[in-house]
Amino acid sequence: MATFRLELVTAERMVYSDDVDMVIAWGLEGQLGILPHHAPLMTMLQPGELIIKKDNEETYMAVSGGFLEVRPDKVIILADACERAEEIDLARAEEAKRRAGEIMEAPSPETDSAAAEAALRRSLVRLKVAEKIRRKRGQRQRSLRE
Ligand code: ATP
Repeated sequence: MATFRLELVTAERMVYSDDVDMVIAWGLEGQLGILPHHAPLMTMLQPGELIIKKDNEETYMAVSGGFLEVRPDKVIILADACERAEEIDLARAEEAKRRAGEIMEAPSPETDSAAAEAALRRSLVRLKVAEKIRRKRGQRQRSLRE
C-alpha cells in the first residue's frame, strides 16, 4: 500500500516522523483526511484529535492548533502543542478545564474570556483523546480475556 512521510513537530520537539497510510486532522472547516498523493494544501488546524494510521494501527494525539502543509514529498504538521494519547496527564487537563470554566462563568475586567475559552477547548480535546485510548485499551483487554 502507498504511504507518505509525515513530520509532526512543535516548537519544542519532533513528536512523530514516519511513513504512514493516512492522517486525519481538524482543519478550520472540519475534519480532513490525507491519503498518499493528496494535492498540495496549506491549512490552519483547530484544536482537535489527530489520528495517524499506519500498518492497521491507529495512533491518537491531541493537537492544540497549528498548521498542516501537504507538500509533494511529505506532510508537515507544525502544532502549537501536541501530546500522544498516552502522554496526556488527565488530572492536569481536568484542572485546566475547571480553571477555564471558572473564568468563563464569572468574567471580569481582569480575566481574559477568549483565552479561557481557548484553554477550555484544549483541555476538552485532551480529555477526549485520553478517554478514547483508555476505552480502546479496555476493549482490547476484554477481548484478550474472552
Ligand atoms: P495547562 O494550563 O495545564 O498548562 P495549557 O492548555 O495552557 O494547559 P499548553 O500551553 O497547550 O497548555 O501546553 C504547554 C505544554 O504542556 C505543551 O508542551 C503541552 O504538550 C503540555 N501539556 C499541556 N497540558 C497537558 C496535559 N494535560 N498532559 C500532558 N501535557 C500537557
